[in-house]
Amino acid sequence: MSATSFQRAQRETLRQALADAISYRDPPLRCADCEALPWLCSQCADGLAQARNYLALMRELEISPPAL
Ligand SMILES: [Zn+2]
Repeated sequence: MSATSFQRAQRETLRQALADAISYRDPPLRCADCEALPWLCSQCADGLAQARNYLALMRELEISPPAL
């Protein structure tokens, strides 16, 4: 495997890892704490903020999200 194809494979793995991390941080469809508030609970809001950090890192690294 050439260095270029290795780097391409690494970037693909990083792309998928970041996409998985972003998906993992999505607020759950049902959260009892959120349902009791007119906004996201602090735990869900923190998770969403972390997902935005991961997305910002993807942009900084010029990694596009995987195709849907
Ligand atoms: Zn919540």
